[in-house]
Amino acid sequence: MVDIRGVHKSFGPLAVLRGVDLQVAAGSVTAVLGPSGSGKSTLLRAVNHLEKLDRGFVAVDGELIGYRYQGGRLRERPEREVLRQRTGIGFVFQDFNLFPHLTVLENLVEAPVGVLRRPRATARARARELLDRVGLSDKADAYPRRLSGGQQQRVAIARALALEPKVLLLDEPTSALDPELVGEVLDVIRDLADSGTTMIVVTHEIGFAREVADTVVFMDGGVVVEQGPPDQVLDNPRQERTRAFLAKVR
Ligand code: ATP
Ligand code: MG
Repeated sequence: MVDIRGVHKSFGPLAVLRGVDLQVAAGSVTAVLGPSGSGKSTLLRAVNHLEKLDRGFVAVDGELIGYRYQGGRLRERPEREVLRQRTGIGFVFQDFNLFPHLTVLENLVEAPVGVLRRPRATARARARELLDRVGLSDKADAYPRRLSGGQQQRVAIARALALEPKVLLLDEPTSALDPELVGEVLDVIRDLADSGTTMIVVTHEIGFAREVADTVVFMDGGVVVEQGPPDQVLDNPRQERTRAFLAKVR
C-alpha cells in the first residue's frame, strides 16, 4: 500500500533522511519511534510530498507521490495532481491545526466539498457520522477554541477521515495533550486500527505501540535502524541503538 524506497532528504548541509526504506501493508498500523531529530516528521511529510525528495520515491497503491515518469524521466507532478494525491493521504498534526474560524462540522465539510466536489448535504451527513464515531456528535456547532485539546485532536482525526484517505499519517497525535486527555485520542486511533484503517503513527507512547501496531519502526540518524513486530523490537531489540533509546523512554 505505502512503499517508501531509498528516500533521502537534506536541508542544506543537514542530511535528515539518509536512505529510508519502509513498506506498509493495507490495513496495518506502523508505529514509528525514535529520538528527537531522527527524521520522523520529515519522513511523514515526505510521504505526503510536503517535502520534496532528494533521492528515492514514495508510492501509494502503486502511484508515485509528487513525481511521475515523463519521457523516461522522473519529473515533478503539477501542483493540482499533488493536491489530488494528498487527499488520499490523511495527515494529523501534533497541534491539531483546525480551522479556527469554522465550526467543528464546517471543519469536516470544507475539504470534501472544496476538493472532492461532494454535494454539501452528502458531506454534512458524512461529517455527522464521523463526529459520532469520534464521540463528538454534540460538538458539531462548536468552534475549536471551545474544545479541549483531546476533543480538538479527535475532530482533526475525523476531518482527515472525511477525505476517505487510503492511509492516515499521524505525527505525535497525543504529545501536545495534557496526560488525562491522551487516552481518549488513543481510543479513537485504536478503534480505527480495529476497523482496518492503514496508519503510520509517530508516537512516544510505547504501550500504545505495543498494543496497536503491527510493525514498530525505530529510526535514528535518518535511517530505519530496526523494524519488526512490537514484541521483537520493543522487548528483544537487536540493535544497541534501539536498546539505548528504549531504556531512556521507559
Ligand atoms: P521530534 O521527535 O523532535 O519531532 P523528528 O524525528 O520528527 O523529531 P524532524 O522534525 O524530522 O525530526 O527533524 C529532523 C531534523 O531536520 C532536525 O534536526 C530538524 O531541525 C531538521 N529540519 C526539519 N525540517 C527542517 C527544515 N524545513 N529546514 C531545516 N531543517 C529542518
Ligand atoms: Mg517530529
